Amino acid sequence: MALIVQKFGGTSVGDINRILAVAQRVIQEKNQGNQVVVVVSAMSGETNRLIKLAHQIAHPPDGHAERMAYSREMDMLLSTGERTTTALLAIALQAQNTASCSFTGRQVGIITDETHMNARINKITAERLKEALDKGIVPVVAGFQGINRASDVTTLGRGGSDLTAVALAAVLAADRCDIYTDVDGVYTADPNIVPTARKLTKISYEEMLEMASLGSKVLQHRSVQFAMKYQVPVCVRSSFTNNGGTLVTKEDAEMEHEVVSGVTCDKNQAKLTLVGVPDRPGIAAKIFSAIAEEKIVIDMIIQNIGQNGLTDLSFTLPTENAEHAQRALLNLTSETGVEEIKLTKNIAKVSIVGGGMRSHYGTAAKMFTTLASEGINIIMISTSEIKISCVVDAKYAELAVQVLHEAFDLGNLPTGGS
Ligand code: ASP
Ligand code: MG
Repeated sequence: MALIVQKFGGTSVGDINRILAVAQRVIQEKNQGNQVVVVVSAMSGETNRLIKLAHQIAHPPDGHAERMAYSREMDMLLSTGERTTTALLAIALQAQNTASCSFTGRQVGIITDETHMNARINKITAERLKEALDKGIVPVVAGFQGINRASDVTTLGRGGSDLTAVALAAVLAADRCDIYTDVDGVYTADPNIVPTARKLTKISYEEMLEMASLGSKVLQHRSVQFAMKYQVPVCVRSSFTNNGGTLVTKEDAEMEHEVVSGVTCDKNQAKLTLVGVPDRPGIAAKIFSAIAEEKIVIDMIIQNIGQNGLTDLSFTLPTENAEHAQRALLNLTSETGVEEIKLTKNIAKVSIVGGGMRSHYGTAAKMFTTLASEGINIIMISTSEIKISCVVDAKYAELAVQVLHEAFDLGNLPTGGS
């Protein structure tokens, strides 16, 4: 008997009929002789609806203490979305003669740190889950939530139900974690942008991790990190079809042949440029410490060669944090001496990802040549062992993805060997 964690995303539980269909899938898995733990998201649109309600009253305040107090209430609010779905699904299972019980994050012992709205999981006890499984009851767990040391509700960041599912799979030593969503797997590019994009049958944790942080919305980035750390086999599949999905797993020999596995695009990035930064030790440290204090994750950083003791510095960050970061840095100008802080929002980060880059030369040259041949200017570049990212003007985002997909021949099955 295998133990399977099944996670259903917002669209999969988007209305009552879909919840009934999910119940059927759970029962099917159970009838195959498997133990099942179910994790659910809020019904699609629900988390956004709740956020909007709060924003009708007040937006997140600037002051540190005020922001903390506000975020605590946001977590209380947002965690209700997932609770609703757990109860509805448990009722649907019971109505079909399948013993089931809903659980909040707290009830299954998901203990997090203190960071409201983006908490990290510190520990999971899972006692009530094990008890339920022993009794043959299907537990339905609210994704995206836990509690901190003070027993206050915390949430795990947007898309955090994936993390709940993977973390429970790790703790319970599940045989597999199936992530049911509205697409049937991980594609070589977003099929809405590239119609010839191909579904990957397998992808390595490392590649998936890069794709998730570079704009592929299929899996939450932190859930992939967790899966990689604890070697949880994750399968991304559609809750609307019976197609085989994409298995996210350890790299194997077969995967190594692919230089590039996918092209991604992240339009949710902004660029801050600091003009006239004094070129002396400690200034960059001050700037980025201030950003870190606001818990803002930055990505690419570029510093120009200094002239007359001054230099320019640019970095990218999620658009939603851009104004906040800009304000934080403006407050600091008397200390840093920075002359001007410019915000650019209409950029996109286009990336190619592939484990095979480690052992192939010429990949960057091919990427830059392809972009150049379409007249697309590269604003910033960053690389890791298995990815190359270019910031381009947002208006070229789709075109860039299309031409790169074509140039690296991703629409065709790899021939293997190299
Ligand atoms: N409901 C939360 C969100 O919309 C968590 C999730 O769906 O994974 O971000
Ligand atoms: Mg999701």
